Amino acid sequence: MRVLIIEDEAKTSVYLRQGLSENGFTVEVCRDGADGLRQALAVENDLVILDVMLPGRDGWSVLAALRKAGKQTPVLFLTARDAVFDKVKGLELGADDYLVKPFDFSELLARVRTVLRRGPVRQEDILRVADLQLDLPRRKAVRAGTPLDLTAKEFALLELLARRRGEPLSKTLIAEQVWDIHFHSDPNVVEVAIRRLRSKVDDPFPKKLIHTMRGVGYVLEEREER
Ligand code: CA
Repeated sequence: MRVLIIEDEAKTSVYLRQGLSENGFTVEVCRDGADGLRQALAVENDLVILDVMLPGRDGWSVLAALRKAGKQTPVLFLTARDAVFDKVKGLELGADDYLVKPFDFSELLARVRTVLRRGPVRQEDILRVADLQLDLPRRKAVRAGTPLDLTAKEFALLELLARRRGEPLSKTLIAEQVWDIHFHSDPNVVEVAIRRLRSKVDDPFPKKLIHTMRGVGYVLEEREER
């Protein structure tokens, strides 16, 4: 099992390297974020142990870049602050677990084994269009590293559009698939839902993914900037 440690504090990284090596892991250490990210992208690791406070590029930015590049290597992050904010942020960015410093090695080893047993999220569980990622089993959407706060219906709508990316979908079809409504009733349901979805998926980002096809319906696709 290969573990990559990204940690600038020599004391902690030496301690981790020694403990993990003694337990049969192959360990690599990087001392800053940029280096760590390069290494995490270049080599297949079974686990990355990532410190949050790093010189150059912090742990959050390393984690976001790793996930954006499609790498699903399990990540366990280390935070010195016992802040709820850090934990939530780390997990939302796609970390698998965290430890608050200082920690006992036995606790770290237990967490490492749990994360490894779970393994990485399987590739087929993730739907990707441009910088948008849908984690299907967990029903979570992330765009450019930012978690999107979607309702269950909004997620279902986005999933339908993403599964059939590049394909214009009529309002009737969307209503049937997402709401199980077979209508001639009000197409406004779909229009309103699309507007809400756009406000979360597209409005905060420069590149738009959901497009209106006049007289047809909607399509989700990445279009070239003009
Ligand atoms: Ca540090």
